[in-house]
Amino acid sequence: MQDCIFCKIAQGQIPSNKVYEDEAVLAFHDISPQAEKHVLVIPKEHYTDLDAAERGMDAGALAHLFQTAARVARGLGLHQSGYRLASNCGPHACQTVPHLHLHILGGSQLSGRMG
Ligand code: AMP
Ligand code: ZN
Repeated sequence: MQDCIFCKIAQGQIPSNKVYEDEAVLAFHDISPQAEKHVLVIPKEHYTDLDAAERGMDAGALAHLFQTAARVARGLGLHQSGYRLASNCGPHACQTVPHLHLHILGGSQLSGRMG
């Protein structure tokens, strides 16, 4: 989608610090990390958020996105001490980039508060 920063990252038009890439998904370090390790996992295809993806995205592709997040987290060694997987959806969740993304947060003790 035009003017979507994550579409541009997915297409290589804007650089990113990549962790993993295949034909459908991309994982890269968050530019403004909110934890010791903060990685984003996105589908290359544009969906505004999880709600839009649930309605329009192939279920297997959505499963692949989550599977990739778990694999990336394991690859970073986060599975041992634990990590948080989050996806902000819409204004109440303070979503700032309207392209579906999963946040992987870990590497040190996180807050027990979720909201
Ligand atoms: P959200 O607030 O859930 O929409 O998360 C958007 C995330 O994207 C934030 O954590 C930003 O720091 C991150 N972000 C924005 N632009 C970039 C970029 N060019 N490269 C990497 N991460 C980015
Ligand atoms: Zn997009």
